[in-house]
Amino acid sequence: MRTILIVEDEPAISRVLKAYLQRAGYAVEQAWSGEEGIRKFDTARPSLVLLDVMLPDQDGWNVLAHIRERSACPVIMLTALGDIDHKLQGFNRGADDYLAKPFVAEEVVARVNAVLRRPTYIVEHDGITCFGSLKVDFKGHAVFLHGVRLSFTPRDLSLFLFLARHPNQTLTREQLIEHVWGLDYEGSDRAVDLAIKRIRKVLQHWPASEGEIKTVRGLGYQFCVYSQA
Ligand code: CA
Repeated sequence: MRTILIVEDEPAISRVLKAYLQRAGYAVEQAWSGEEGIRKFDTARPSLVLLDVMLPDQDGWNVLAHIRERSACPVIMLTALGDIDHKLQGFNRGADDYLAKPFVAEEVVARVNAVLRRPTYIVEHDGITCFGSLKVDFKGHAVFLHGVRLSFTPRDLSLFLFLARHPNQTLTREQLIEHVWGLDYEGSDRAVDLAIKRIRKVLQHWPASEGEIKTVRGLGYQFCVYSQA
């Protein structure tokens, strides 16, 4: 059974999360402060950590830093609603996802399940990476689905390749613009949204069970690859 560590000082929130996660088949450990979180992380060896940012003794970022020094264990930050700085900070510091309070417990469970679906379906060989039936040749700048080459505009292809180089990571519109359009780009973020729309259309026959380009609301996009396990 996989263990989830909840580091959260509000008893009501921690209790609800524990109940839902247990119902979903996880073992749960709870910690009520940053220090206890660090201690329990070292002893419980969880599969995933739900980590509150505002803790009584230290902030969640310290706890995240401690975890990242030791392992790549997935961490989902629990942030205040609409705090975009927290979201960005979280990703920069190695968080895997974030959830804004107040959240629905079912959504937390869904995110936990999604983060734990490891990208074991990714196979790399000779600069070519296969994401299920989607084959990406990063050196040759070509993408194939079931062996058929897909047709992108040059910029859409650059955008797609950039996303595919970072599977299961959220990239902000700003990051995408900077890497694909360039720092001197003066147009609107909408160019990204339109390009993503076109890319999704090109990828429409890629099975949704294998992966997708997911919108991360208020933030950006994620090239998600799902394990077939
Ligand atoms: Ca708190």
